[in-house]
Amino acid sequence: MRVTELVSRTETALRCEVCQWRCILQANEYGRCMVRKREGDAIIPLSDGLISAATIGPIEDYGFRHFFPEAMVFAVGGWGSPFPAHHDHMHHAQLPDDPAKRRALDAERVVKFAQERLARGIIWSYNDPVITHESLLETMRLARAGSRITGIVTGGFWSKAALDQLGPYLDGINLILHGFSTSSYYKLTGIEEWRGILAGAERAVKHWNCHLEITTPIATGINDSNTEIEAIAGWIKGTFGPHIPWRIIPAQDSDTNATLGVRQHAQTLGLHFIYGSEASETTRCPGCGWAVVERHTGQTRVVGITDAHCDNCNAEVYLRTSLFKKRNASKVHD
Ligand code: SF4
Repeated sequence: MRVTELVSRTETALRCEVCQWRCILQANEYGRCMVRKREGDAIIPLSDGLISAATIGPIEDYGFRHFFPEAMVFAVGGWGSPFPAHHDHMHHAQLPDDPAKRRALDAERVVKFAQERLARGIIWSYNDPVITHESLLETMRLARAGSRITGIVTGGFWSKAALDQLGPYLDGINLILHGFSTSSYYKLTGIEEWRGILAGAERAVKHWNCHLEITTPIATGINDSNTEIEAIAGWIKGTFGPHIPWRIIPAQDSDTNATLGVRQHAQTLGLHFIYGSEASETTRCPGCGWAVVERHTGQTRVVGITDAHCDNCNAEVYLRTSLFKKRNASKVHD
């Protein structure tokens, strides 16, 4: 059985260093994620190697718009989430009690399956993959060794140590950003210390040169004020530039029309790429409006772009299409 390696010790307890909770666990205690437990002198990842879902499909299904458009990927998910507010109502956030639903799929088989089915890459999604760090890291290493692209859909609550282990093998991140205030984060996720998520995203881009896209599920009356939306746009623009794609979608049970209003407001805030949840959105060159990626009912075609530059006006379009990470443009301090 595998044990959690990202652990530090206090005099009487063990501290898990996988996510930003940094839980201190006494004998037989569970972490806040409910999928790690102290047993004896170790912390056991209870959902290690278990999958909740696995499917082949277009990369767009996982929220990416500028990361290998047209690619078919193998998407896998495990069990567990670092966000307590998700445990009761989100699929895959808690390990099922029924042992029959606890299916195992080891790293080699995940990568082999992706290769056999000619999937361009592997995307970790469904639960929050950060919480299944050990199997995520092992599979990601093998995937990169097997020339597959790697991407993750996550709330970004990983510790710096966990991110730094994944960084060399991680190509793309779809960061689910739940808001830009303590009140929104607390209501939507159950955490209060949310700013570490921003620092992690910045490190992933500037230190590890990961491709970043952001998705915000809008929960009516919680994270939809103009002030909050403007704060997110300001952070994206100020930290990374206006080229980072931002997807604004309705949260579960939220009003689709209200989300449309939020999206329209976001479009006035100086970012180049604002998307929603429609499968048919076109990506347009920010310089001249030329269609560079067309999407029609599940079919995606890159039509007006060469070497990440618009065929019409030669403006650079933020599109990741190469397996090789570009040289880092800037750094953040360690
Ligand atoms: S993964 Fe996070 S929530 Fe789970 S035990 Fe470790 S620090 Fe706590």
